[in-house]
Amino acid sequence: MLGLMQTRPLLISTLVDYAASQHGGREIVSRDPEGVIHRSTYAAVAERARRVGQALDMLDVRFGQPVATLAWNSFRHLELYYGVTGSGRILHTVNPRLFPEQIQYIINHAEDGCVFFDPVFVPLVEQLAPLLPHVRGWVALCEADSLPAVKVDGLLCYEDLIAAAEPAAEWPVFDENTASTLCYTSGTTGNPKGVLYSHRSTVLHAFAACAADSLAFSARDTILTVVPLFHANAWSIPFAAAMCGAKLVLPGPRLDPESIFLLLQQEGCTAAGGIPTVWLNFLAWLEPQRDTIDLSGLKLQRVFAGGTAPPRAMIEKFRDWLGVFLLHAWGMTETSPLVTAGSPLAKHADAAPETVVDMQVNQGRQVYGVELKLVDADGGKLPHDGRSVGELKVRGNWVISGYFKNEGGQVLDAQGWFSTGDAATIDPDGYVQLTDRLKDIIKSGGEWISSIEIENLTVSHPDVFEAAVIAIPHPVWQERPLLLVHAKEGREPTRAGILDFLSTRIARWWMPDDVLFVESLPHTATGKLLKTELRARYGNHVPAGG
Ligand code: AMP
Repeated sequence: MLGLMQTRPLLISTLVDYAASQHGGREIVSRDPEGVIHRSTYAAVAERARRVGQALDMLDVRFGQPVATLAWNSFRHLELYYGVTGSGRILHTVNPRLFPEQIQYIINHAEDGCVFFDPVFVPLVEQLAPLLPHVRGWVALCEADSLPAVKVDGLLCYEDLIAAAEPAAEWPVFDENTASTLCYTSGTTGNPKGVLYSHRSTVLHAFAACAADSLAFSARDTILTVVPLFHANAWSIPFAAAMCGAKLVLPGPRLDPESIFLLLQQEGCTAAGGIPTVWLNFLAWLEPQRDTIDLSGLKLQRVFAGGTAPPRAMIEKFRDWLGVFLLHAWGMTETSPLVTAGSPLAKHADAAPETVVDMQVNQGRQVYGVELKLVDADGGKLPHDGRSVGELKVRGNWVISGYFKNEGGQVLDAQGWFSTGDAATIDPDGYVQLTDRLKDIIKSGGEWISSIEIENLTVSHPDVFEAAVIAIPHPVWQERPLLLVHAKEGREPTRAGILDFLSTRIARWWMPDDVLFVESLPHTATGKLLKTELRARYGNHVPAGG
């Protein structure tokens, strides 16, 4: 017998309506590239989002057609998040840090009908416009009096466009499985592939993000959204914040530590989310002045980080210097992205501080709504004993079922599991510890060495800014670790000093065969270490005496 309850479609427009009616006066603060603060509210953003829907009608963008954005985190970008999806079009957030050839590829692949862009991207727009046959309209996200001169056909000004549009009286109602947003994976090799989210997956994912043991958003939060709106739905923040009425702070392009600090302080942010590289820079800036800087007004309670592993030293510094809990999360573009979050269990309430940090260093436990499985090379299930290393597989309501336009073909196995390509252990409490991307793993004498763990230990050395570990060939052990170190400014760590530091912290057979000091380390467009490039450059390095 079926239950007798209503089924209302889970549409993003319901989040927007909820925020506008229940938290209409809650602020949306954004900072423009010049540092000027703009204040809006959920009510105002929702009203303008309805105008966006009408404006897209006027631009002849069909229901279900993708619309691209090339933009930093701002109130206008947020209005597009709500208005494009709410009106039944697909919001395609393009990462402007990709190479122009990649951007050209993905906008053509998505067949975006128009592009909304920040004026700072005019040179990129002019370069790309002749190469994008599907794009009929270019909308600059600004006021008429700051409309830049752009050599493209069909140039429009966002503010003029939405001033001319009437706000739609009601959002359209349609199937909750309709596509809502589109995001391409960064793809360090091969062409980027599109992940097409649905309204249903997005709303369910927002519920999961708000849950107390994941990102734990509430109406009392003020969230600094450092993670770009073009990276994996900005970890759901725009949707989850609307679901609970949290104040949103959108920092624009300036992500230098001082700008971040000022926003945290001036806006009374309680939570902030961003990749570890941002926090690495932030803490390096704070370190020399932490005894003298004025921390009054700082209400920060939690920072959440993912995309790469935040090192132990980062977790400890946030705790010791600012009294902030770092929530470590893991996921992928293909998983919306939230899969695991590192919240404490009841047993951690009385645990020693170091035990809590031991827990935080892990990638966290799976949140409700997704399932994880650990498998060996033959697909056999591995025990959750905290020791067995295998590949993570995932399935659930906000996990991909196939890439856009079926690129890459079948991606699920017969039971619906998606292979993450990540190697990990899972402990008896369910905490996942990522050891590597499978393709980055170092196989030494039949055993696996975790590059992530050596990297994270190395950055706890006081003179080290960032570290990377790659495999180099070895005649006996097949592969051995090579450590690349980017030192902190003004510091000169030595090879012997680094090895000595590591020797008391890792097993002897994990010790790097050599340490090389580099000026900087290469990163992908989403801030991950670009190991393909490091392998190309240093993969055949012969250690001193080797
Ligand atoms: P992306 O789709 O660009 O967000 O990349 C997803 C990949 O980033 C995952 O498959 C992991 O390899 C890596 N990743 C995400 N979160 C973490 C984390 N907390 N620690 C280590 N690696 C992570």
